[in-house]
Amino acid sequence: MNPEKEKQILQVLRSVKDPDLGRDIVELGFVKNLKLEGEKVFFAIELTTPACPVKDRMKEEARRAVLSVAGIKEAEIQMTARVRPSLAKQKQDLIPQVKNIIPVASGKGGVGKSTVSANLAVALVQMGAKVGLMDADVYGPSIPRIMGVTKSPQVIPGNRVVPPEENGVKIISMGFFLKEGEAVVWRGPMLHKTIQQFLGDVEWGELDYLIVDLPPGTGDVQLSICQTIPLTGAAIVSTPQDVALKVAEKAIVMFNKLNTPILGMIENMSGFVCSHCGQKNDIFGSGGARAYSLENGIPFLGAIPLDTQLRQTSDAGIPIVISSPDSVVAQAFQQIAQNLAAQVSIRNLEGAGSRLAPKQVSQPDASHLKIVWNDGRESIYSTYQLRVACQCAVCVDEMSGQKKLQPETVNQKVFISGIDPVGQYALRFHFSDGHSTGIYAFDYLRSL
Ligand code: ADP
Repeated sequence: MNPEKEKQILQVLRSVKDPDLGRDIVELGFVKNLKLEGEKVFFAIELTTPACPVKDRMKEEARRAVLSVAGIKEAEIQMTARVRPSLAKQKQDLIPQVKNIIPVASGKGGVGKSTVSANLAVALVQMGAKVGLMDADVYGPSIPRIMGVTKSPQVIPGNRVVPPEENGVKIISMGFFLKEGEAVVWRGPMLHKTIQQFLGDVEWGELDYLIVDLPPGTGDVQLSICQTIPLTGAAIVSTPQDVALKVAEKAIVMFNKLNTPILGMIENMSGFVCSHCGQKNDIFGSGGARAYSLENGIPFLGAIPLDTQLRQTSDAGIPIVISSPDSVVAQAFQQIAQNLAAQVSIRNLEGAGSRLAPKQVSQPDASHLKIVWNDGRESIYSTYQLRVACQCAVCVDEMSGQKKLQPETVNQKVFISGIDPVGQYALRFHFSDGHSTGIYAFDYLRSL
């Protein structure tokens, strides 16, 4: 194409902005395959989410912009989408084809976390995304019931598990491997192994989003997930009343500690609209999660009212976004799915790599370790200092917090023979004296 013309077209397209990302589509690199044939221009706008609610508006703005260029009479614009992978995902990732892993969490049980996870997963599929749903609520796996899964996972050679697909979503759940009514007594290592298998041994294929329905609270599964795989960010489900929010706050604090971003909050059971008289009754109050989000700078993704039909369709194994896609509740889920996808795009484009995370870790000599952090700060540690600062259960009494390790017993010449990343929040060092059980969280390292 005439380079002058191309420049003119790209210049006018700079007036079209992605409302979520707040930048223009040229700067964002969204304009693809620009071609000119006579007076007709062809190009594609490649968004970061198929769920973009203002796609049509952007297309129209782009059309108007290019038609304002002298000599252009027609425009053929294709709107496409490619979900970008989370920047946190690393090469040695267990599931490199899964672009974004999004845990859905709540501080306590019964707030509708599984119902929300299932409907969000299906709503994302309805918007054109490839989606998986991992039921990590090992204590009470309810996803197979809510999603009406009738098929079982298939084990194929190599001990790989092919997840059943229902409503367009690939699903894996502990529920598939338990007999009806059977309870499991889980201990930390068993849980960790199961989570690793759910991630690494399952044929997820290429996915834009893997939604993970976590157990309620802040236990071993949460820790295990955060340690095993880089997460894009978590969505927190809460009911509106204050008490529940205090509980949700615990989950938020946990993710903060594990350096996992919070993509946003969802308020479930937010008021009740009487189907007979249409009057709204705020049984658990409403707006609490929205207010909390605002106060704490967390995106608010949306609210879902209490709704009898939602409970009935969930119990019958048909997510409401399928059984009644035009209902108020289904529309609320669709809106939340759009908002969630937008937050993922924002995170991934911002280069979410937390300010707290190390950009570069090096060993200038045998007795020093250097970390350059994402915010530019540089820290230099002596390897002896790091070894003495170990906080593992062998070195520090877990109950009293008293140091058990005597610094004078540590060899002054101790060095580091290996470094492993632990999730997105810590490093593990292998010391030359054979000690390697300590996990050094980034905020701890920065405080040393
Ligand atoms: P959690 O995963 O947090 O334990 P569930 O998703 O299993 O919670 O939901 C608990 C119960 O509440 C289920 O019977 C579900 O159908 C019902 N439920 C969830 N959200 C709503 C809602 N907005 N309106 C009515 N019932 C709901």
